[in-house]
Amino acid sequence: MSTGPVFFDPGQRVAVLTTQPLDRLLTYRAPEGGCWQGAFVEVPLGPRKVMGVVWGPGEAGFDASKLRAVSRVLDVAPMRTEMAEFLARVGDYTLTPMHQMLRLATRAPGLTDPPSMRKVYRLGSGQAERMTEARVRVIEVLRDYGGLAFTLGELAEMAGVTTSVVKGLVKLGAVREEESPRDLPYPRLDPDAPGKPLTEDQRAAAEALVAGVRSGDYGTTLLRGVTGSGKTEVYMEAVAETLRKGRQALVLLPEIALTAEFLKRVEARFGARPAEWHSGVTMTERRRLWRMVGEGEAPLVVGARSALYLPFRDLGLIVVDEEHDQSYKQEDGVLYSARDMAVMRASVNAARVVLASATPSLESWANAEAGKYARLDLTSRFGEAVLPEMRAIDMRAEDLPGNRWISPTLEAHIRDRMEKGEQSLLFLNRRGYAPVTICRACGHQIACDHCDARMVEHRFLKRLVCHQCGETKPMPEVCPSCEAEGKLAPVGPGVERLAEEVGERFPEARVAVLSSDLFGSARALKAQIELIAQGGADIIIGTQMVAKGHNFPLLTLVGVIDADLGLQGSDLRAAEKTFQLIRQVAGRAGRADKPGLALLQTFQPDHPVIRAILSGDEEGFWRAEAAERQAAGVPPYGRMAGIVISASSAEAAFDLGNALARADQPLRAVGAQLYGPAPAPIARIRGRHRVRLLVKADRAVALQPALRQWVGQFTPKGDTRLSVDIDPQSFY
Ligand SMILES: [Zn+2]
Ligand SMILES: [Zn+2]
Repeated sequence: MSTGPVFFDPGQRVAVLTTQPLDRLLTYRAPEGGCWQGAFVEVPLGPRKVMGVVWGPGEAGFDASKLRAVSRVLDVAPMRTEMAEFLARVGDYTLTPMHQMLRLATRAPGLTDPPSMRKVYRLGSGQAERMTEARVRVIEVLRDYGGLAFTLGELAEMAGVTTSVVKGLVKLGAVREEESPRDLPYPRLDPDAPGKPLTEDQRAAAEALVAGVRSGDYGTTLLRGVTGSGKTEVYMEAVAETLRKGRQALVLLPEIALTAEFLKRVEARFGARPAEWHSGVTMTERRRLWRMVGEGEAPLVVGARSALYLPFRDLGLIVVDEEHDQSYKQEDGVLYSARDMAVMRASVNAARVVLASATPSLESWANAEAGKYARLDLTSRFGEAVLPEMRAIDMRAEDLPGNRWISPTLEAHIRDRMEKGEQSLLFLNRRGYAPVTICRACGHQIACDHCDARMVEHRFLKRLVCHQCGETKPMPEVCPSCEAEGKLAPVGPGVERLAEEVGERFPEARVAVLSSDLFGSARALKAQIELIAQGGADIIIGTQMVAKGHNFPLLTLVGVIDADLGLQGSDLRAAEKTFQLIRQVAGRAGRADKPGLALLQTFQPDHPVIRAILSGDEEGFWRAEAAERQAAGVPPYGRMAGIVISASSAEAAFDLGNALARADQPLRAVGAQLYGPAPAPIARIRGRHRVRLLVKADRAVALQPALRQWVGQFTPKGDTRLSVDIDPQSFY
């Protein structure tokens, strides 16, 4: 698109990008009344009408009389040129066709609907003959608010009457009923409302961020601070400055369950609630937000990674909180990292980015080292609290039967906390009861019928569950392989089994299990978290969701049940992920005035990662990890792309994989190396066989054009699918 809005007169040719899987723009005639470039429109396509965006001038050369006209222009703000550029750049970077990018950017229901209306009530001109006390109250409320209109429910509630009283007044003409648009603007936020007092280093950091916002230029800052160091208060000042300038701000959070607490903090700071965008928000609210954000009527949006594709009118700041979190990587559909795309969007918008974390990703750390990002460090925790002390429990020296996971040392510490009325958290990153179910007669392990994965027993659900595809089945009575009866046994612990052990060892303790699969709704989870925060549990058992920033003031002990768990496997980020996760979990212990203790159960106390965690020498860890990645030429010091081919037959998947490997000339031309094809680590998911290829290249190489040329030589046939993952995060 060219810069600046362009208007097309009726009948002029316009090129329209639709959400349909076509690899080109379609040319139409501009409708009666004309349209702006960027206008969201409905166009005829064959017998159907589809949604699209006017992308630019249409192609000449067609017989103009044969061109069909745009059916209608939708009543929403046109797409801004910087948004179109952002979508094109993400599409280029992730090798995603534009129709898919447009879908990502229009994920609000009912955009093609006419603006929906609702009934509101205001003071009428008529006089009621017989004024009851209830009727008088309604009229008084309307007079008090001088001309404002309310919904039926609001008005009845404020006047303390039933809705039939209001309706009676409508019949008499004393109250007027009107239609009004349902999608209302979001409340103004007051950036000058007083915030929490800041400590000295918080203020210095806040001032640096505010100066960045004032500059009106692009810039990214890594804001590093331990849990409780007041990162939120600091970046909230950058939000305030953005609002003062009349621009919009977006705060991305890694998990919906964190939103409620965050919204409260925003309300306390700015006097009103911001707009919310995530999968837990109603359809009506999503449509309202999508429309309002485009009109500049949503000053602050708090949301999940997909909020990045909302049509902001003037986005001035993006905060990515817990920027190291893996949930920022979208792992299906369009494969993108929300953290990296936030930086891309900000550079297009002349906006600022704040990447906040206690344990930054190596990518962000390296970008700060290289001077691409600014870096601010918050060291002191709020109040008197200090970072938890960290110690290893050498499991080789602990006396523990094979079906128990809490060492005597850890048990003693838990008892001590219970006597003091403090909370303990036991961390185990494994959902369910037991990861493996084995037959003690023949050694058979129960696997999923559709995946190359073992089924995990979930006693809470009374079923076996495949964590890859979600398939469940009841626990069989006899071994599916040798038909022996009563020989199936659980092997290894999941959080449910750990909860059972806790129940046996501490029968008097109140136990809460926090695992994403145990809660039917975000609301139920939120209630449980609040209950724990208020002291409603003595022992908390949690999977990795407990690492994500929930505040438990009474928590003083963290026990990591299996610190070695994440160190296995071939993932190049295994060390980094383990380091971040355990540091994050340990950071939950000890706030306010109570010092915390974190105990790591490990069979490898001398493993470099475990030692780095214990020593607390984070910079040392990053430097060592960076040196290793640099030597191996892997991200962030090299480029990488993962290609997964899946098909219902293994042969078909390998055929395409081998064909790609033979035709690797475009990759060799830029000096990239190709590995594979090989069966993917999980070689079958949902009945589909999976084959993997990996491409590695120098950092300086423009990998995407080469990849596009290479992959473009083949069209997957039948049910074969190919996906390209740039900067892959997981290697399954
Ligand atoms: Zn058996
Ligand atoms: Zn499965």
